[in-house]
Amino acid sequence: RTVYVNGEYLPETEAKVSIFDRGFLMADAVYEVTSVLDGKLIDFDGHAVRLKRSLDELDMAAPCTKDELLEIHRKLVEVNGIVEGLVYLQVSRGSDGDRDFVFPDPETTKPTIVLFTQNKPGLANSPAAQKGISVIAIPDIRWHRRDIKTTQLLYPSMGKMMAKKAGADDAWLIEDGYVTEGTSNNAYFVKDGKIVTRPLSNDILHGITRKAVMRMAEEAQMEIVERLFTIDEAKEADEAFVTSASAFVMPVVSIDGVQLGDGTPGRIAKRLREIYLEESLQAAI
Ligand code: PMP
Repeated sequence: RTVYVNGEYLPETEAKVSIFDRGFLMADAVYEVTSVLDGKLIDFDGHAVRLKRSLDELDMAAPCTKDELLEIHRKLVEVNGIVEGLVYLQVSRGSDGDRDFVFPDPETTKPTIVLFTQNKPGLANSPAAQKGISVIAIPDIRWHRRDIKTTQLLYPSMGKMMAKKAGADDAWLIEDGYVTEGTSNNAYFVKDGKIVTRPLSNDILHGITRKAVMRMAEEAQMEIVERLFTIDEAKEADEAFVTSASAFVMPVVSIDGVQLGDGTPGRIAKRLREIYLEESLQAAI
């Protein structure tokens, strides 16, 4: 694989980042994952805008312009022959060659930017989407700026391991009695034709897919209610689903072992997945 590091395209075995990099030492880094379908980038603009916001919230300088970012994405997709897959992008605060809690001087310390691709044939036509996934509920013990897409992914990783141990596919996170989101996705349930999801705040990541899917749902005359909801409400739902850039719209068919509906992907989730894939592929660049 060819990867990108700080202005250079290199074979992955030759790419290097300092051991003092704050991304490595302190998770002082933000990231984006953009999916590739048909060799094209899905919602690149949405990811670029959110990246800028994450950087701004952390007083981190942008390592390059949006146009340069697009060029790097496209070049990696091309040289690595990605037809279906992902582009991972990470920007960290870099390092001044030592370890210190205080941020290094931005005049002399440049951010570190790394991009690589992941080949994922069958991303759109996924068997999981045909079958639907199972989730369990676990406490949300993450920090309180989940709107910033940082690389602090230890708890989400632990959550996925807890799910695996329980024989489930993923976990939904609960705080103060309400579902925040999935470990790496936004969460929804459908009851009596209404789609319910948590409103945007610093408690959840502002999903790029969430935004697109909600617009498409509205255009398809579906009713969306943004409000707090409990896991018990979701367990009594007709159907449920999650959204993310890499899973698109993924039906959820069981919560904590409670089957939803007839235990197969719901009508609305399936319809939204179709609409999302079709429309975002049309708009892909
Ligand atoms: N919430 C969390 C915690 C996530 O990690 C992700 C995916 N990175 C999402 C939601 C979904 O966001 P997006 O649709 O932009 O991938």
